[in-house]
Amino acid sequence: MQGSCLCGSVAYDADALTGPIVHCHCLTCQKAHSAVFASTARVERSGFRWTRGDNVRRAFESTPGKLRHFCAQCGTHLMAEWVGRDYVILRVASLDDDPGVQPAARIWTTHDRPWLQWHADVPAYDEGAPPVR
Ligand SMILES: [Zn+2]
Ligand SMILES: [Zn+2]
Repeated sequence: MQGSCLCGSVAYDADALTGPIVHCHCLTCQKAHSAVFASTARVERSGFRWTRGDNVRRAFESTPGKLRHFCAQCGTHLMAEWVGRDYVILRVASLDDDPGVQPAARIWTTHDRPWLQWHADVPAYDEGAPPVR
């Protein structure tokens, strides 16, 4: 599978996911992605290769030993890793290809913000902004 950042400067190649897709709601992921959760999945370290962007890729150590890799040009987070472990944690929404599986769980939902209610009846639209009223 191929993945890339918003501006296209950074890209990677990843073998099949080796763990389930999990939506992580932790506060650190919320801040890192400026989103209410980050969709994550493990890939064997040996099955992950950066293919583009060594010159613009940066890493932020959000917790001692945990590096979050992102494009310094556009800000997209692509992968995180615990140094020394035999897997990396893909930011699944950065994939350009369909991983072929559905998300299996949400974790750290105790960190959800008060305004975020998963079961609220919020209308959805195929594209664009909702009608102005
Ligand atoms: Zn980029
Ligand atoms: Zn998280």
